[in-house]
Amino acid sequence: MNPNPLPHLQLELDKLKACIHCGICLPACPTYKVTGSEAESPRGRLYLMKKLLEGQLAPEAVKPHLDQCLACHGCETVCPSGVQYGKLLLSTREDMAQQDTSGLRAFKRLIFSQVLPNHGLLVLGGQLLRLYQRSGLQKMVRQLGLLNIAPSLAHQEGLLPEIPARKALRAGAGFGDPTGETVALLTGCVMDIFYNPVHWDTIEVLAANGYWVVIPEQGCCGALAHHAGETDITRQLAEALVEKTLKVNPQWIVVNSAGCGSSMKEYGHLLATNSLIAEKAALFSERLVDVMELLAKKPLAPFKNYAMHETVTYHAACHLYHVQKVKQEPMQLLAQIPGVTLVPLTQMEACCGSAGIFNVEHPELSGEILDVKMEHLQTACHQGGASTVITGNPGCMLQLEKGIQDSHLPMQVRHPVSILAQAYRSPQSTTPLNPKRTPQ
Ligand code: SF4
Ligand code: SF4
Repeated sequence: MNPNPLPHLQLELDKLKACIHCGICLPACPTYKVTGSEAESPRGRLYLMKKLLEGQLAPEAVKPHLDQCLACHGCETVCPSGVQYGKLLLSTREDMAQQDTSGLRAFKRLIFSQVLPNHGLLVLGGQLLRLYQRSGLQKMVRQLGLLNIAPSLAHQEGLLPEIPARKALRAGAGFGDPTGETVALLTGCVMDIFYNPVHWDTIEVLAANGYWVVIPEQGCCGALAHHAGETDITRQLAEALVEKTLKVNPQWIVVNSAGCGSSMKEYGHLLATNSLIAEKAALFSERLVDVMELLAKKPLAPFKNYAMHETVTYHAACHLYHVQKVKQEPMQLLAQIPGVTLVPLTQMEACCGSAGIFNVEHPELSGEILDVKMEHLQTACHQGGASTVITGNPGCMLQLEKGIQDSHLPMQVRHPVSILAQAYRSPQSTTPLNPKRTPQ
């Protein structure tokens, strides 16, 4: 007898049956909005999962449509029936991944298990990219159109932000008030290479608000492997991260990357059957918060900078808004900054098309979804006067920077904690202050 090829999806059968086919989710689905195809809608994808489970459709017929799903969870937010689409998608992807014997899957597993967790290698890659940009080579390559012979490479190169000088955060360092609540700051991979100054801004804001910020030994959180259904790799990475982080005995575990945060909040569930670590994993997820979520828990410390004049708009990262349900907090915090005016962004909670590595794997569809977001940003900029778009996820930051660059929009992209950090500096300071470094 053949073993069930869809064991995880089979376990979620009740969740699948909860769909009443009403179609309310369709207008909330970015892939449906740009393709108009039922198979690229939440309802259509749930139907495909059902037919797959019943053996009426082969995995090859279903996979392309599930691959084109952003896993943005926008459909869950509007579903009147409470269908847990994200869990169903993940279970199906996990089952399908296990049946996939292709070289592409093997390559992705290598990246997830060997490259992303190797922080030294990522730092080296970041330094080489910075050299490529600052030496003038990037300008020359772009002017001569050298990458146009490989359009996908040209697209990926176009996603690169200006790589900042990286100031390393060493494990064991502590910042702020040692008598305050202990916060373990997780620095991640993409965030630390592409947006390292955001970590220093995070430390500065948390320290200004009385927290003792420590940098634990850490590693990759496994979020990208998780989204791809490679759960065994995620479990291994999660176990190591839980053990290392809890060693500093934090009251809070803070992350400033929405995609990583949403995966780490699942660790309790992911490791629940491993009796050796289940309790610790549950504790880890309980204490895991996005930096905006933590800052919104009590009144902010007084600001120092009353000379700011910024009109901003806010794009809600899917993994913060739809998955972690951190919806209003970032805007409530931004609204408290003197001199900062927040103008609305139409459909702020709609995905920008970044979605982990979706923009690398599906550049065309991702670009079409980004175009919709850019139309709304144009309005916020030209009619609302916004010169900055704020978002709390590195993937969204990369994607929006690309959209802004391509459409020559006079806007910049910033993380919400960076705006707060600016408000905690004296108006005279031209460069970010480093928090006072206190040995542990
Ligand atoms: S997923 Fe929810 S909103 Fe979409 S068709 Fe099913 S029940 Fe309706
Ligand atoms: S997760 Fe996003 S892209 Fe996927 S079906 Fe739901 S709304 Fe559409």
